[in-house]
Amino acid sequence: MRFELLFLGTAASAPSAERGLPALLVTFGRHRVLVDCGEGTQRQILKSGAGLKGLNRILLTHAHLDHVLGLGGLIATLALFDIRGTVTINGGPATLAYAERLLTGGVWGGGLLPVPVAFAPVAPGVLVEDGRFRISAFPVIHGEAESFGFLFEAVPMRHLDAARLESLSVPKGPPRSRLAAGLPVRLDDGRVITPEDVAGPSDPGLRLAVIGDVGETETLVEVVRGADALVIEATFLEADRDKAERWGHLTARQAAALAAEAEVEQLFLTHLSPRYETAQILAEARAVFPRTRVAADFDHVTIARARRPELASR
Ligand SMILES: [Zn+2]
Ligand SMILES: [Zn+2]
Repeated sequence: MRFELLFLGTAASAPSAERGLPALLVTFGRHRVLVDCGEGTQRQILKSGAGLKGLNRILLTHAHLDHVLGLGGLIATLALFDIRGTVTINGGPATLAYAERLLTGGVWGGGLLPVPVAFAPVAPGVLVEDGRFRISAFPVIHGEAESFGFLFEAVPMRHLDAARLESLSVPKGPPRSRLAAGLPVRLDDGRVITPEDVAGPSDPGLRLAVIGDVGETETLVEVVRGADALVIEATFLEADRDKAERWGHLTARQAAALAAEAEVEQLFLTHLSPRYETAQILAEARAVFPRTRVAADFDHVTIARARRPELASR
Protein backbone atom coordinates (compact mmCIF):
# COMPACT_ATOMS: atom_id res chain seq x y z
CA MET A 1 0.00 0.00 0.00
CA ARG A 2 1.59 3.25 -1.06
CA PHE A 3 1.00 6.69 -2.48
CA GLU A 4 3.33 8.04 -5.15
CA LEU A 5 3.66 11.82 -5.25
CA LEU A 6 5.01 13.62 -8.26
CA PHE A 7 5.43 17.35 -7.74
CA LEU A 8 4.75 18.91 -11.14
CA GLY A 9 4.66 22.55 -10.13
CA THR A 10 5.88 24.05 -6.87
CA ALA A 11 5.75 27.81 -7.50
CA ALA A 12 3.40 30.33 -5.92
CA SER A 13 1.36 32.69 -8.13
CA ALA A 14 3.83 33.02 -11.03
CA PRO A 15 6.22 30.46 -12.47
CA SER A 16 9.98 30.84 -12.28
CA ALA A 17 12.71 29.29 -14.41
CA GLU A 18 12.91 26.42 -11.92
CA ARG A 19 9.34 26.07 -10.72
CA GLY A 20 6.07 25.54 -12.57
CA LEU A 21 2.63 26.53 -11.31
CA PRO A 22 0.81 24.32 -8.81
CA ALA A 23 0.09 20.73 -9.77
CA LEU A 24 0.68 17.46 -7.94
CA LEU A 25 0.13 13.98 -9.34
CA VAL A 26 -0.95 11.41 -6.77
CA THR A 27 -0.83 7.77 -7.90
CA PHE A 28 -2.22 4.88 -5.84
CA GLY A 29 -3.63 1.50 -6.81
CA ARG A 30 -5.17 1.99 -10.24
CA HIS A 31 -5.81 5.68 -9.65
CA ARG A 32 -3.95 8.69 -11.03
CA VAL A 33 -5.24 11.94 -9.60
CA LEU A 34 -4.02 15.43 -10.38
CA VAL A 35 -4.39 18.00 -7.60
CA ASP A 36 -4.62 21.46 -9.20
CA CYS A 37 -3.67 22.26 -12.74
CA GLY A 38 -1.66 25.45 -13.06
CA GLU A 39 -0.72 26.81 -16.46
CA GLY A 40 1.89 24.57 -18.09
CA THR A 41 0.92 21.42 -16.19
CA GLN A 42 0.63 19.31 -19.34
CA ARG A 43 4.23 20.09 -20.29
CA GLN A 44 5.37 19.24 -16.77
CA ILE A 45 3.55 15.89 -16.97
CA LEU A 46 5.26 15.07 -20.27
CA LYS A 47 8.64 16.27 -19.12
CA SER A 48 8.39 14.16 -15.97
CA GLY A 49 7.81 11.06 -18.09
CA ALA A 50 4.57 10.34 -16.22
CA GLY A 51 2.48 10.52 -19.39
CA LEU A 52 -1.17 11.38 -19.69
CA LYS A 53 -2.70 7.91 -19.80
CA GLY A 54 -5.12 7.03 -17.04
CA LEU A 55 -5.31 10.58 -15.83
CA ASN A 56 -9.03 10.78 -15.26
CA ARG A 57 -9.54 12.86 -12.16
CA ILE A 58 -8.52 16.43 -11.34
CA LEU A 59 -9.11 17.81 -7.86
CA LEU A 60 -9.13 21.59 -7.63
CA THR A 61 -8.30 23.18 -4.29
CA HIS A 62 -9.64 26.58 -5.37
CA ALA A 63 -10.14 28.74 -8.42
CA HIS A 64 -7.21 31.16 -8.24
CA LEU A 65 -5.60 31.46 -11.64
CA ASP A 66 -2.28 29.85 -10.68
CA HIS A 67 -4.21 26.63 -9.86
CA VAL A 68 -6.60 26.29 -12.80
CA LEU A 69 -5.29 27.91 -15.98
CA GLY A 70 -3.71 24.65 -17.20
CA LEU A 71 -7.06 22.89 -17.56
CA GLY A 72 -7.81 23.97 -21.13
CA GLY A 73 -4.46 22.94 -22.54
CA LEU A 74 -4.42 19.64 -20.71
CA ILE A 75 -7.89 18.69 -21.91
CA ALA A 76 -7.09 19.72 -25.48
CA THR A 77 -4.03 17.49 -25.44
CA LEU A 78 -5.92 14.53 -23.97
CA ALA A 79 -8.22 14.80 -27.00
CA LEU A 80 -5.32 15.18 -29.41
CA PHE A 81 -3.61 12.08 -28.01
CA ASP A 82 -6.93 10.26 -28.27
CA ILE A 83 -6.89 9.40 -24.58
CA ARG A 84 -10.31 8.02 -23.85
CA GLY A 85 -12.54 8.09 -20.83
CA THR A 86 -14.32 10.78 -18.92
CA VAL A 87 -12.23 13.29 -17.02
CA THR A 88 -13.84 14.14 -13.69
CA ILE A 89 -13.07 17.56 -12.27
CA ASN A 90 -13.85 17.92 -8.58
CA GLY A 91 -13.89 21.14 -6.63
CA GLY A 92 -16.12 23.23 -4.39
CA PRO A 93 -19.25 24.54 -6.16
CA ALA A 94 -17.84 28.03 -6.79
CA THR A 95 -14.48 26.63 -7.96
CA LEU A 96 -16.22 24.23 -10.27
CA ALA A 97 -18.54 26.89 -11.66
CA TYR A 98 -15.46 28.93 -12.51
CA ALA A 99 -13.69 25.97 -14.15
CA GLU A 100 -16.80 25.14 -16.15
CA ARG A 101 -17.19 28.75 -17.32
CA LEU A 102 -13.51 28.84 -18.24
CA LEU A 103 -13.76 25.71 -20.36
CA THR A 104 -17.26 25.70 -21.82
CA GLY A 105 -17.69 29.46 -22.05
CA GLY A 106 -14.15 30.51 -22.89
CA VAL A 107 -11.72 27.91 -24.22
CA TRP A 108 -14.46 26.01 -26.04
CA GLY A 109 -17.01 28.77 -26.48
CA GLY A 110 -19.55 26.50 -28.13
CA GLY A 111 -19.74 24.54 -24.89
CA LEU A 112 -18.67 21.25 -26.47
CA LEU A 113 -15.49 19.93 -24.89
CA PRO A 114 -13.24 17.63 -26.96
CA VAL A 115 -13.27 14.88 -24.31
CA PRO A 116 -16.11 14.06 -21.93
CA VAL A 117 -15.66 16.07 -18.74
CA ALA A 118 -17.78 15.60 -15.62
CA PHE A 119 -17.89 18.59 -13.30
CA ALA A 120 -18.55 17.08 -9.88
CA PRO A 121 -18.90 19.42 -6.89
CA VAL A 122 -17.39 18.40 -3.59
CA ALA A 123 -18.72 18.94 -0.09
CA PRO A 124 -16.90 18.12 3.13
CA GLY A 125 -16.73 14.34 3.48
CA VAL A 126 -15.97 11.30 1.36
CA LEU A 127 -15.58 12.05 -2.33
CA VAL A 128 -14.35 8.76 -3.78
CA GLU A 129 -14.37 5.29 -2.25
CA ASP A 130 -13.47 2.08 -4.03
CA GLY A 131 -13.05 -0.42 -1.22
CA ARG A 132 -9.29 -0.03 -0.93
CA PHE A 133 -8.90 3.72 -1.13
CA ARG A 134 -10.84 6.74 -0.09
CA ILE A 135 -10.52 10.43 -0.93
CA SER A 136 -12.23 12.97 1.33
CA ALA A 137 -12.52 16.72 1.06
CA PHE A 138 -12.32 19.20 3.91
CA PRO A 139 -12.78 22.98 3.96
CA VAL A 140 -9.72 25.22 4.06
CA ILE A 141 -9.63 28.95 4.83
CA HIS A 142 -7.76 30.94 2.17
CA GLY A 143 -8.85 34.58 2.13
CA GLU A 144 -12.21 34.93 0.42
CA ALA A 145 -11.70 31.97 -1.92
CA GLU A 146 -13.79 28.84 -1.45
CA SER A 147 -11.10 26.21 -0.83
CA PHE A 148 -10.83 22.54 -0.06
CA GLY A 149 -8.04 20.24 1.01
CA PHE A 150 -7.99 16.53 0.25
CA LEU A 151 -7.26 13.51 2.38
CA PHE A 152 -6.16 10.32 0.60
CA GLU A 153 -6.53 7.19 2.71
CA ALA A 154 -5.90 3.53 2.18
CA VAL A 155 -8.67 1.60 3.88
CA PRO A 156 -7.11 -0.60 6.59
CA MET A 157 -6.70 -4.16 5.31
CA ARG A 158 -7.70 -7.13 7.43
CA HIS A 159 -5.44 -10.17 7.15
CA LEU A 160 -6.30 -13.62 8.48
CA ASP A 161 -3.91 -15.52 10.69
CA ALA A 162 -3.08 -18.79 8.90
CA ALA A 163 -2.11 -20.61 12.10
CA ARG A 164 -5.40 -19.72 13.80
CA LEU A 165 -7.38 -20.78 10.74
CA GLU A 166 -5.63 -24.16 10.84
CA SER A 167 -5.99 -24.64 14.58
CA LEU A 168 -9.71 -23.89 14.35
CA SER A 169 -9.99 -26.15 11.26
CA VAL A 170 -11.61 -23.46 9.09
CA PRO A 171 -11.88 -24.98 5.59
CA LYS A 172 -10.29 -23.18 2.64
CA GLY A 173 -12.61 -21.48 0.14
CA PRO A 174 -15.83 -19.60 0.87
CA PRO A 175 -15.60 -19.69 4.71
CA ARG A 176 -12.19 -17.99 4.63
CA SER A 177 -13.37 -15.48 2.02
CA ARG A 178 -16.29 -14.53 4.26
CA LEU A 179 -13.97 -14.05 7.23
CA ALA A 180 -11.58 -11.95 5.13
CA ALA A 181 -14.55 -9.78 4.19
CA GLY A 182 -15.25 -9.21 7.90
CA LEU A 183 -18.20 -11.60 8.20
CA PRO A 184 -18.72 -14.47 10.67
CA VAL A 185 -19.13 -18.05 9.38
CA ARG A 186 -20.95 -21.10 10.71
CA LEU A 187 -19.00 -24.28 10.01
CA ASP A 188 -20.54 -27.65 9.17
CA ASP A 189 -19.97 -28.81 12.74
CA GLY A 190 -22.06 -25.90 14.05
CA ARG A 191 -19.25 -23.74 15.43
CA VAL A 192 -19.44 -20.03 14.65
CA ILE A 193 -16.10 -18.37 13.84
CA THR A 194 -15.91 -14.58 13.91
CA PRO A 195 -13.31 -12.46 12.05
CA GLU A 196 -11.86 -11.51 15.44
CA ASP A 197 -11.19 -15.21 16.18
CA VAL A 198 -8.78 -15.42 13.25
CA ALA A 199 -7.49 -11.83 13.03
CA GLY A 200 -3.94 -11.59 11.77
CA PRO A 201 -1.75 -8.55 11.33
CA SER A 202 -3.65 -5.48 10.21
CA ASP A 203 -2.18 -2.80 8.00
CA PRO A 204 -3.29 0.54 9.38
CA GLY A 205 -4.56 2.77 6.61
CA LEU A 206 -1.95 5.02 5.08
CA ARG A 207 -2.98 8.71 5.08
CA LEU A 208 -1.86 11.60 2.92
CA ALA A 209 -3.20 15.14 3.33
CA VAL A 210 -2.85 17.61 0.46
CA ILE A 211 -3.66 21.24 1.15
CA GLY A 212 -3.31 24.03 -1.39
CA ASP A 213 -3.29 27.69 -0.44
CA VAL A 214 -4.33 28.36 3.14
CA GLY A 215 -4.16 31.23 5.60
CA GLU A 216 -4.57 29.51 8.97
CA THR A 217 -3.89 26.12 10.50
CA GLU A 218 -6.08 25.97 13.60
CA THR A 219 -8.97 24.25 11.83
CA LEU A 220 -6.63 21.71 10.20
CA VAL A 221 -4.90 20.13 13.19
CA GLU A 222 -7.44 17.38 13.79
CA VAL A 223 -8.03 16.77 10.08
CA VAL A 224 -4.38 15.99 9.37
CA ARG A 225 -3.55 14.45 12.76
CA GLY A 226 -1.18 11.50 12.45
CA ALA A 227 -1.04 11.64 8.63
CA ASP A 228 1.87 9.79 7.02
CA ALA A 229 2.50 12.83 4.86
CA LEU A 230 1.26 16.41 4.70
CA VAL A 231 1.68 18.52 1.57
CA ILE A 232 0.98 22.19 2.22
CA GLU A 233 1.93 25.65 1.06
CA ALA A 234 4.68 27.83 2.55
CA THR A 235 4.47 31.01 0.52
CA PHE A 236 6.22 33.29 3.01
CA LEU A 237 8.85 33.31 5.72
CA GLU A 238 8.06 34.37 9.25
CA ALA A 239 9.77 37.76 8.64
CA ASP A 240 6.93 38.51 6.21
CA ARG A 241 4.14 37.18 8.43
CA ASP A 242 2.13 40.38 7.88
CA LYS A 243 2.11 39.76 4.12
CA ALA A 244 1.13 36.12 4.64
CA GLU A 245 -1.82 37.22 6.75
CA ARG A 246 -2.85 39.90 4.28
CA TRP A 247 -2.89 37.48 1.34
CA GLY A 248 -4.28 34.45 3.16
CA HIS A 249 -1.11 32.36 3.05
CA LEU A 250 1.18 30.62 5.52
CA THR A 251 4.78 31.06 6.54
CA ALA A 252 7.12 28.06 6.56
CA ARG A 253 7.14 28.25 10.33
CA GLN A 254 3.34 28.09 10.55
CA ALA A 255 3.22 25.08 8.23
CA ALA A 256 5.87 23.32 10.31
CA ALA A 257 4.05 24.14 13.54
CA LEU A 258 0.94 22.48 12.14
CA ALA A 259 2.95 19.36 11.25
CA ALA A 260 4.42 19.26 14.74
CA GLU A 261 1.14 19.81 16.56
CA ALA A 262 -0.68 17.24 14.43
CA GLU A 263 2.21 14.77 14.74
CA VAL A 264 2.40 13.95 11.06
CA GLU A 265 5.21 11.72 9.80
CA GLN A 266 6.54 13.89 6.98
CA LEU A 267 5.98 17.44 5.78
CA PHE A 268 6.34 18.60 2.18
CA LEU A 269 6.31 22.33 1.52
CA THR A 270 5.25 23.73 -1.83
CA HIS A 271 3.74 26.92 -3.41
CA LEU A 272 7.10 28.65 -3.02
CA SER A 273 7.96 32.23 -3.74
CA PRO A 274 11.12 33.18 -5.67
CA ARG A 275 11.76 35.96 -3.14
CA TYR A 276 13.35 33.37 -0.84
CA GLU A 277 16.12 30.79 -1.11
CA THR A 278 14.96 27.20 -0.70
CA ALA A 279 17.50 26.81 2.09
CA GLN A 280 15.88 29.63 4.06
CA ILE A 281 12.46 28.01 3.84
CA LEU A 282 13.87 24.65 4.82
CA ALA A 283 15.81 26.04 7.77
CA GLU A 284 12.81 27.93 9.14
CA ALA A 285 10.56 24.87 8.91
CA ARG A 286 13.10 22.33 10.17
CA ALA A 287 13.73 24.39 13.29
CA VAL A 288 10.15 23.52 14.24
CA PHE A 289 9.59 20.21 12.43
CA PRO A 290 12.77 18.36 11.39
CA ARG A 291 11.07 15.88 9.02
CA THR A 292 10.42 18.64 6.48
CA ARG A 293 11.27 18.64 2.81
CA VAL A 294 10.89 21.59 0.45
CA ALA A 295 9.51 20.21 -2.80
CA ALA A 296 11.15 20.89 -6.15
CA ASP A 297 9.52 20.37 -9.55
CA PHE A 298 9.72 16.70 -10.61
CA ASP A 299 10.40 15.43 -7.10
CA HIS A 300 9.00 11.91 -6.91
CA VAL A 301 8.24 10.62 -3.45
CA THR A 302 6.79 7.35 -2.24
CA ILE A 303 4.66 7.46 0.89
CA ALA A 304 4.56 4.04 2.52
CA ARG A 305 4.95 2.52 5.95
CA ALA A 306 8.38 1.04 6.48
CA ARG A 307 7.65 -0.66 9.78
CA ARG A 308 5.64 -3.85 9.85
CA PRO A 309 2.48 -3.51 11.88
CA GLU A 310 2.35 -5.60 15.02
CA LEU A 311 0.19 -8.66 15.19
CA ALA A 312 -3.34 -7.74 16.16
CA SER A 313 -3.61 -8.54 19.83
CA ARG A 314 -6.52 -10.49 21.20
ZN1 LIG B 1 -1.82 29.82 -5.30
ZN1 LIG C 1 -4.86 31.01 -3.89
